[in-house]
Amino acid sequence: MDRDQLKHHLEFAAELGVAGMSRDGIWRRRPGDSESVPSEPAQPLTFVKSSAEALVAVRTEIGDCTRCKLHAQGRRQIVFGVGNPDADLMFVGEAPGGDEDLQGIPFVGRAGQLLTKIIEAIDLKREDVYIANVIKCRPPGNRNPEQDEVETCEPFLFQQIDVIQPKVIVALGTFAGRALLRTLDPISRLRGRVYEYRGAKLVPTFHPAYLLRNPASKREVWEDMKLVKKLLSQTE
Ligand code: URA
Repeated sequence: MDRDQLKHHLEFAAELGVAGMSRDGIWRRRPGDSESVPSEPAQPLTFVKSSAEALVAVRTEIGDCTRCKLHAQGRRQIVFGVGNPDADLMFVGEAPGGDEDLQGIPFVGRAGQLLTKIIEAIDLKREDVYIANVIKCRPPGNRNPEQDEVETCEPFLFQQIDVIQPKVIVALGTFAGRALLRTLDPISRLRGRVYEYRGAKLVPTFHPAYLLRNPASKREVWEDMKLVKKLLSQTE
């Protein structure tokens, strides 16, 4: 600090009604020193991480997970999630299938190709959004996830959501809708409404795998995606 800066500092301090600096030793004491002024307990330092770094931390915490029985039932790898860590739009599916288990990337099989088309239908690219599943390991034979598996794995999805803080979340299918909305209602009852969820707008819609079997329902999904587009533009 040069003389001019010091002068300004003292003038500013005087305007505020404080002495600006003092030789009083109390100014130099630290919490824990004897005779120190009672002070707030030291707070742990919090480092602001980028979303990308925070997601890496979540992935690191999962590790080579053995928390539920799926680790011993033929999963090849954990399928964490993919996409833009700062995405405004996040898709949540159920669990990896065979293709995803092989590649370690969610939604890369036939249902995934349809999801890519759905994303492109609202003028976005896969890289713009974030895609994850409730369950990070493939259930054997693509069976439905079981309750204990969902309960063990879903906290990591919640952490991903809290890191990314998307404006809109699309829950794909009954399992995602149930896990996020804490309901037993099927997707047919959940869809058609917007829910408030962890600071985001949540739009449930049919799972792309269901659409492959029931192409007539694409019309409803298109309605849901138009709603998603509108919500994204409103929350900009
Ligand atoms: N179905 C899902 O729910 N998730 C995937 O990643 C692939 C298919």
